[in-house]
Parts: sequence; structure tokens; C-alpha cells
Amino acid sequence: MDRRTISVIAVGLAMAVAGLYAPSSAFAQGAKSAGAKKRASAVKAAAVNGKRIAQADQEPGNWMSQGRTYSEQRFSPLKQINEKNIGELGLAWSYDLDTHRGQEATPLVVDGTMYFSTAWSKVVALDAASGKLRWEYDPKVPGEWAINACCDVVNRGVAVWEGKVFVGTLDGRLVALDAATGKLLWETLTIDRNWRYTITGAPRVVKGKVLIGNGGAEMGVRGYVSAYDAATGKMAWRFYTVPGDPSKPFESPAMEKAAKTWTGEWWKYGAGGTAWDAIVYDPDLDLVYIGTGNGSPWDRRVRSPQGGDNLYLSSIVALNPDTGEYVWHYQETPGESWDFTACQPIIIADLKLDGRTRRVLLHAPKNGFFYVLDAKSGELISATAYTKTTWATGVDLKTGRPIETPVGRYPGTSPEPTQPGPLGGHNWQSMSYSPLTGLVYIPVHESGFLYKSDPEFTPKKLAFNTATDGVAAGMPQDPKIKKAILEGIKGRLVAWDPVQQKKVWDVERPGPWNGGILSTAGNLVFEGTASGNFEAYRANSGEKLWSAPAQTGIIAAPISYTVKGEQYVAVLAGLGGAFPPNTGEVSHKRGLMLPLITGEVSHKSGLMHNVSRMLVFKLNGKATLPPRKVVEPVLNPPPSTASAEEIHKGEKLFQRYCSACHGDVAVGGGVLPDLRYSGTLTDDTFYSVVLDGILKQAGMIAFGKELSKEDATLIREYVIYRANQSVEESKQKN
Ligand code: CA
Repeated sequence: MDRRTISVIAVGLAMAVAGLYAPSSAFAQGAKSAGAKKRASAVKAAAVNGKRIAQADQEPGNWMSQGRTYSEQRFSPLKQINEKNIGELGLAWSYDLDTHRGQEATPLVVDGTMYFSTAWSKVVALDAASGKLRWEYDPKVPGEWAINACCDVVNRGVAVWEGKVFVGTLDGRLVALDAATGKLLWETLTIDRNWRYTITGAPRVVKGKVLIGNGGAEMGVRGYVSAYDAATGKMAWRFYTVPGDPSKPFESPAMEKAAKTWTGEWWKYGAGGTAWDAIVYDPDLDLVYIGTGNGSPWDRRVRSPQGGDNLYLSSIVALNPDTGEYVWHYQETPGESWDFTACQPIIIADLKLDGRTRRVLLHAPKNGFFYVLDAKSGELISATAYTKTTWATGVDLKTGRPIETPVGRYPGTSPEPTQPGPLGGHNWQSMSYSPLTGLVYIPVHESGFLYKSDPEFTPKKLAFNTATDGVAAGMPQDPKIKKAILEGIKGRLVAWDPVQQKKVWDVERPGPWNGGILSTAGNLVFEGTASGNFEAYRANSGEKLWSAPAQTGIIAAPISYTVKGEQYVAVLAGLGGAFPPNTGEVSHKRGLMLPLITGEVSHKSGLMHNVSRMLVFKLNGKATLPPRKVVEPVLNPPPSTASAEEIHKGEKLFQRYCSACHGDVAVGGGVLPDLRYSGTLTDDTFYSVVLDGILKQAGMIAFGKELSKEDATLIREYVIYRANQSVEESKQKN
């Protein structure tokens, strides 16, 4: 008997003893007899239940839920790949995706099959050892729904449970698929489509219920989390994160309490608080924790003019998993006004604090402070800035409130960027906690934002509704100011001691928006970078040990698993999400690997191609990636003839309607078309695209309902002006 067979049997025995589940497909794959096929079809795919997830450490070769375990530490106990042999890690296989959009999903691996979601909420199942396609599923999200997404048409993952795979779709559906075939079993609409909701987060399954939230706080919606019966799709409960119209009955005592912290007519703006990512479960305490989003619109003076904390914005809320009832909350950013969500991934851990072991939540939300909370009571244990924070100097441990600075709430125009900005000191890119080193590994973004109220704000159906001034927030074109701002924008991989609340080591990155993190028992930390590499570091000291090129930026989180006893490390590659489309110029100047520089570019349409694919590594892997064509695009705009007044009007419209996808101040971030290169700047196709929506299937809807032909012309004049400015700027450099 070889070692592999022994290990397979050993794992099987352990599971049989624990009475956990039916024989897995891994056994069927291991068998070579004629009966193997029959047995394989009899085996249930993704036979995962609560017991199996709760005892995930007993089968470390599988990755059965978002953060591997319910505690979502994203730590793998596997150590076949370790600090000694990491130099032998090579590509085992790769799988190209049918989309060029951003990839944010964490894959799951159960008994030899890998399940993951891709852009446009599609789902793929692969043989985890070979990369061979088992099945794929396309929920056919209408392209037009993309206008409601703040941050690309991404999806962060699927959940599996008792033979089903669940995915939330961009247009608000929760879908259940047969894990063996990818066939649709049920789907249910989780949103009211009169409001601009989206789903990008991964569902979690707790006690037979599928939990899902939504996004849309930039568009003007009211946040909530819902639970659906995994077997039937029937809704079990819904918890709203902010109160609705107080003239109607409150849905719960929690909403009645929350309404006392709001003023004015907040419900007309939706109010926000969308729970678009973090949902974790503690089986020991039997509590579900959700992280809630920012206020809608951002500026509190608009949505709640007489102030107030605006519960439960920017909070961690603990819920009863059976009923969805409120248990406790801790608000990280009272009276939220900066897009400081608390949706960032939550980790549950046991920490030794003052001589006793405490069950805690570890959280590094956008606002820049690292929080340690008691998991049972929500008591604030400690909070320290993990990055530069100019809006607050610290957190008062007695009141639990941030100590705000005079410039924090942007009384006028920010003289310099407030830090962190809407990107957050940390965003959805998951952090990881290693119980071996006792460190939390955080992908930190260092960037700020020029906040200013927009006195002319009125909510629109087809634009961002933040009530902040997009022109004031745009990258200043004065070379000195621009240089200073750009130099302040970086990324960092930070190893954080949550007990001492201090940094132990860090790695500086040229730019932000690097990938989520995996730590392993091999004393390794894995992270992909926005500049196009997949890297490994020594977990206790931060020494760089290994790197492989990915041909595109990586933003998703890696996982590790085994098939037939062999360890693999997998990560989805494909730049996208909020940052590159949104902040074009910064992306170019801060080292992000943009398709504009490295990929195929179609000059005529201005469309660019990202490379989105699954990359899987193992020791002595010998696979290679196909070479990429490098095309340097040439800027050749028509002359700018518009007046300064017209350009200013065009800039205002561009920043509010176009910049989120086509880049701040009309510099594309590489994922979506950079309009400065567009062939339509000189012909009437421009109007057909902008006003009539001839490219709506790709997400470019018709803006004709809200923008006039004159508006479209102003936008075009602004883009032409900016393209000419860019040509001048590059001449000065050469
Ligand atoms: Ca937001």
C-alpha cells in the first residue's frame, strides 16, 4: 500500500468514526476498478453539513466554506508545502474564464471538486486535481443591471450544503444548483427591483438556512440580510440594518430603537447600511455576526440633517441564527459620513488576553482601526489604528466611540485627502489569522479622499448618490499636488498582533488593491498582488520566499486543499472591483498591472482585455501560461475646441455618471474602456452608446432618460479635453 492510499483510508476512517458523511467522490476517484464509475455516480457531490463545517479541522484537505471554517480564519493546517520547499512550487494547471471582468471569489473544494463564482455571478465546477471542467452555470444577469453596481460585476463566492451550490446574483437572486450537475434547483428574488440593489457577496449556510445580504448604499437603498431554507428557497427571516419610514410599523424592536438615532426623512434616501460581505457564524455561541455598510448618501447632513448615530450603519450586529432577531451591536463609525463600511471580513478567534482565553471577533474595517470585540457580549476590548487615520485620532475605550478630528467631517473642501478614504484602510480582500504565529495578516490600502459636500445634490436613478462633490474629489491636475497625492497612495501587507495591538512586520506594495490572504501551517503567508504576482512570505518574519507571475493583477484570496494526499494552492486572477475602474490615473501610476500596459487592446472600440483565470500550484508543478501579446495604445484625440465653461459642465456630469466605471477624471483603469481612446469621440456612435444603449448587454445602459444630447456632448467635450491634456503631459515627460 502506498502512502497516498494509507492517507486516504486514514481520512476515511476518521470521518466514518465521526459519523460525518457518506463516502466522498475522492474515494471513487482513487479506485481504478470498473465499479468506480458506478460508485462515483452514487456518491453525493458537496455532501457538506453544519457538523462537517464545524469540524473542518478534521478534514484539512477540503475548503468547505468561505473562510474554510465557520470562524473564517482563512488558515490552512496543511504543511506539505512549507517554508523549506516553497521554492519548488510551480503551476499545476490553469483554467481560463470566459470573462475579462474582475475576479473576487474564494473557491471552495469538496472531495476533489472545486466550486467558484466568476464575474456576472456565473458558477464553475472543476476537477480540483486536473482543472477539467465538470460543469458551468450562467444565471444570465441582464447587462443593464451593471449600472446598479458600485464596483464592477464581481462575485465573491459560492456556498455548498447537502448536495447544493448557492450563489447570489448581481440582479438580486439567490440560486440553488445541483452540485453534481450544475442544474438549477430553485431560485428566489431577494430584492425589490424598484430599488438599485446588487449581490456580490458569498452566501453562508447556517443550520440549514442560506444567509445572504446585498449592496447598493451608493445608489440609495435600505440594507438587510435574509435567511432562506436551503432545501426549498423559502424565506425564513429578514433583518433590516436601518429603520424604514417611521409612519409605518417597525419590523422589530431593534428598528424602533434604531429610529431614535436618525433625524429628518432618511428613509426617502434608502439610508444604506447594506451588508454586502461579512456574515460569520459561531456554532459555540450560536450567534451570526454581520458587518453593515455606509450611510446612503454618504453625507449625514443630507440623510439625517440634525445628526444622530444612525444605527445600525457601520456596525457589527450579532443575530439569532434561527429567527434573525437582534442580540447585540457595536457601531464602529457613529454618524457614518465617509463610506466607512463595517462589511469587511470578520474573524472569530480564541485569544489569550490578561491571562485568560477569550472568544473574540477580530475586525479591520474601512475606518482604519483594528477592533477586538468580545464575541458573546460585543464589549469593546481594544481598538488601535492599523493605518494612517486623519478623520479620528483614536477610539475612546470608555465610550467605544472614535475621537474625531476637526477636519474629519469635512466642514469645507478637504485641504488634503482624508485618510482612509472610501477605498478603506482595508476592504473586502480577506485577512487571515494564523493560530500558530498569533498574527492577523491584513491587505492594507493606503489612500485618501478629497471629501466635500455637494450643495446641489438630488438623488438620481442612473448615477452615484453620495451627496459629495465629484469634481472636488477628482485628481487635481496641478503637477505638484498630483505628485504629492500619488506618492501617498500605497499598499501594504501587514502582520498584526491582535493581543498587543501592534504591527509585527509589513511589506510595502507600490499600490493598493492587492489580494486577500491565506496563512498555512507551513509557516507561509500567500498573497496575490495588483501588480501581477502571486507571492509567499515566511509567516512569522515576513521574509519573501517565492513569487510567480500571474499576467494580471490578483485581488481574490487564495486557498489550499489536497486531492489524493497532494497539496495545492489556488487563487483566482483577474483585476477589477472598485479600485481600477474607479480611480484610473492612480491605478496607472501606482504599479497596478493594467491590461492597458500588458494586454491586447482594441484601439477602435477602446475595449481592453483583462486575463481572468484560475491558477493552481503544487510542488514541482510544470505547467506554463500562454505568452501575452503586448500592444502599446496610442492616444490620438481630436482637437479640444470647447470653452472652459463647457468643459467644467462636462466634468461635473462625467464625475457623477461615468467615472465609477471609466475612471476618475476620464482616465480608464484598464478593466473597462478608457474613453480617451474611444473611436466614437469623432462620430455620432457616441450618442447611440451613451443615450440609446447599443452596448447595454455589456453593462453600458441607455442614459437617455436622465441625460440630454447636450449633456452627452458636454461629456464628450470633457473627455476630448482630458485626452489632449494627457497627450501634452506625456510629451513633457519625454
Ligand atoms: Ca459603500
